[in-house]
Amino acid sequence: MNAPVHPHALSTAELQALDSAHFLHPFTDHKGLAAKGARVITHADDIYVWDSEGKKILDAMSGLWCVNAGYGRKELADVAHAQMMKLPFYNSFFQTTNEPAVRLAARLAELAPAVDGRRFQHVFFSSSGSESNDTNVRMARRYWDLMGQPQRKVIISRHNAYHGSTMAGASLGGMSAMHAQGDLPIPNITHIQQPYYYELAEPGESQDAFGLRAARWLEDKILEIGPEKVAAFIAEPVQGAGGVIIPPATYWPEIQRIVDKYGILLISDEVICAFGRLGHWFAYEKFGYKPDLVTFAKAVTSGYIPLGGVLVGDRVAQVLIDKGGEFNHGYTYSGHPVACAVALANLDIMERENLPGRVRDDVGPYLAEVFEQFKSHPLVGDAETCGFVAGLVLVQDKATRKAFPEDWAVGMMCRAHCFGNGLVMRAVGDRMIIAPPLTMTRAQIDEMAVLIKKALDLTLQELQ
Ligand code: PLP
Repeated sequence: MNAPVHPHALSTAELQALDSAHFLHPFTDHKGLAAKGARVITHADDIYVWDSEGKKILDAMSGLWCVNAGYGRKELADVAHAQMMKLPFYNSFFQTTNEPAVRLAARLAELAPAVDGRRFQHVFFSSSGSESNDTNVRMARRYWDLMGQPQRKVIISRHNAYHGSTMAGASLGGMSAMHAQGDLPIPNITHIQQPYYYELAEPGESQDAFGLRAARWLEDKILEIGPEKVAAFIAEPVQGAGGVIIPPATYWPEIQRIVDKYGILLISDEVICAFGRLGHWFAYEKFGYKPDLVTFAKAVTSGYIPLGGVLVGDRVAQVLIDKGGEFNHGYTYSGHPVACAVALANLDIMERENLPGRVRDDVGPYLAEVFEQFKSHPLVGDAETCGFVAGLVLVQDKATRKAFPEDWAVGMMCRAHCFGNGLVMRAVGDRMIIAPPLTMTRAQIDEMAVLIKKALDLTLQELQ
């Protein structure tokens, strides 16, 4: 038998050796990782994390877009502890329920704004964004079966979208690197181009004109497939993992016109964008469209414990409930009492500290001002923010928008300089992106800006 492992007694090198011997990480080249060793994160507070060598790092990615309320929230730990002592688990399959899940479903129904009288009165719980999007596929197809239109199977998504890593989630996503492994996408999922103005606009085309043109790629696709075969369109309000792609103002209203015209379901994947990230509880409110299903996860608990789900609008819920009988779908942890209790306490914090409001009216606009200044940096072709997500695109030639050769990996170079200076910033190709905790102060935005500027300068130096 192997000797028992006592993590607190292990040095960084020992942890790294055990890590590379046993832990298969998500989205990781293990040979590459083994050669240099994983960074071991030991603790966190506010907007900072520390590694096992004592280095303090400003976490401008909120973990993985999830720690919206910031680190070190003792009350979330206290709530989890109390709930574990009272009822650590019970399932919600066999006509049973539990108080935290009931309260959270009701709270989310209350928080989700109705648009034109379309309400979200029901919630289906899971443990992640990926599972929730699998639920969406099952639900959308079940809806159309019950509506007597079983031929409506196709779900349209977008290139470079990220909707998770399960078979359905990765298929809904539009990441070619993911599709290249494991025969994806699964049948009846197809993609249109993303509304990425900087890369796809014609010379001289306005943002508004491009937004309309990009939305009409959906109509072209619906007509190509046959509207009678299309079940749903799924999209992130702002594409996150694809590089913080913010659609022009004309995009979402035109998408709404198109889904209404053909009667297809609209799924808003708000795994990143909900819970204050864009300055609202839910992002569809910001853009004014009317989804039928809304995917959530991550910040519903500020990442303190896994929880995800789908807000189910009345259009779908009424059919499932009135005509559907048993819906043969669910997860062991659907409505997990501890996760739901933590979510309730997290929503309390967000409400008490008005986190969505401060992003909308205070720190969000300030972040936009700060990012505007990066436009004058010689490496930066464009800088954009939307609430508390932001992106910088690094280019070889600002005037012509010429990109760097892919194999120079300039984004990764810049990311390494960020880490070197104590900043987590993510690189998606040559787009440098952030999604900081919503608690970040103006002074901390300034502190982050200094670190970003330093990383940009060092990247420029390395390229010369
Ligand atoms: N949908 C979106 C928009 C996401 O950004 C993510 C994760 O980043 C997911 C779904 C998948 O969520 P999870 O990793 O919790 O399965």
